[in-house]
Amino acid sequence: MFDSLSQRLARIVKTMRGEARLTETNTQEMLREIRIALLEADVALPVVRDFIAQVKEKALGQEVLQSLSPGQALVGIVHNALIDLIGGETAELDLASKPPAIILMAGLQGAGKTTTVGKIGKWLTENRRKKVLVVSCDVYRPAAIEQLRTVAGQAGVDFFPSQPDQKPTDIARAAVEWAKNHYHDVLIVDTAGRLGIDQAMMDEIRLLHDTLNPVETLFVVDAMQGQDAVNTAKAFSETLPLTGVVLTKLDGDSRGGAALSVKAITGKPIKFVGVGEKLTGLDVFHPDRMANRILGMGDIVALVEQAQANVDHEAAAELASKFKSGAGFDLNDFLAQISQMKKLGGLSSLMEKMPAEIQGKATAQDMDKAERDMRRMQGIIHAMTPAERHKPELIKAARKRRIATGAGVAVHEVNRLLNQFSQMQSVMKKMQKGGLAKMMRAMKG
Ligand code: GDP
Repeated sequence: MFDSLSQRLARIVKTMRGEARLTETNTQEMLREIRIALLEADVALPVVRDFIAQVKEKALGQEVLQSLSPGQALVGIVHNALIDLIGGETAELDLASKPPAIILMAGLQGAGKTTTVGKIGKWLTENRRKKVLVVSCDVYRPAAIEQLRTVAGQAGVDFFPSQPDQKPTDIARAAVEWAKNHYHDVLIVDTAGRLGIDQAMMDEIRLLHDTLNPVETLFVVDAMQGQDAVNTAKAFSETLPLTGVVLTKLDGDSRGGAALSVKAITGKPIKFVGVGEKLTGLDVFHPDRMANRILGMGDIVALVEQAQANVDHEAAAELASKFKSGAGFDLNDFLAQISQMKKLGGLSSLMEKMPAEIQGKATAQDMDKAERDMRRMQGIIHAMTPAERHKPELIKAARKRRIATGAGVAVHEVNRLLNQFSQMQSVMKKMQKGGLAKMMRAMKG
């Protein structure tokens, strides 16, 4: 996601931090680089101009020039401007109305509307404990109604059936009645999408809007369409009172232009982003965290949340205490560590959220290799007996050969794993003696 923009900005940020003095020249140079980075990310020109003007005004202000580390202060300014640009505060769904709270979904065909209905339904059910009903008002494509039925089943939300010979407004009214009578908290209404914006589509969705009076009207756009996505959202927002935008397929968008300009061009906040085809591929959009990621500062909050959701806490606590004491850390624990890492989505997903300094120059190939190595290590440890895992020093030549055959690897790979493990053990012993802080200092120096 946003690879080249993020790399460029992270580089600029790094250079700026190192600047002891800010001059007209180095400030101009930095602004020029940011400008190029944004334009290359396909951000609309007027948006780029405003952004640069805003940063420039603040950068040349007294606060920065008089601060102890002007470079750092400047990074702060760019960071805040970026947060403002992509939306400021996180925009929550407004579900406070009398139930059912109605969410009307609009968007062009193929934008990801039906998938998003399922994703939001699942999210509301699991994260907000809401009882959700979904309905399709797409009477033009019978397959669309069936698609929603399937998606609803996968999402674990209730489905209100509709027929292609019904009028969309009749379907909508019937679904609201049903939701009221069956105590649903939220009703999500999927609508017909066209290939482009046309009058008939606009008229129909406006009529639906008037009939339903929804608390949320979300416009779904495909991030991979870049500036086109933003322009479509703008056209819609001029006819329909949108409350927010859902940007889908961000997982396939390597430039990020749409994510950066939607708010500025349409005035509507991005509420969710789609990050995968599966129904779990939905994130609440947090402008501050996104800005961190774009500037290469990492999304540590997301990492922690992910860890909280997926990690076996007892196992982690036990491991941590063994780590601290350095005692009894054996190959079983090593194995446990590898599988914890896997639960967090594997190395590459972890790395994506790390600050740029940590990501360093690790390429996709490096990551692939590291993941393959991890799988091989797992295989090797699995081929050991419990006694061997507990006491690796038992493993001499004959046992090494047996393990290698069992795991389908060469003997030298078993040796390598044992070496790595003993290095880790000795690091832990040092940590015990010298304390963690001392070691960190040594590593930095
Ligand atoms: P609709 O015509 O607007 O209802 O769009 P659909 O929900 O049928 O989605 C169109 C295609 O986009 C499908 O193949 C979806 O799996 C895919 N899709 C939707 N959202 C995402 C997303 O966030 N990431 C990716 N990679 N694919 C998505």
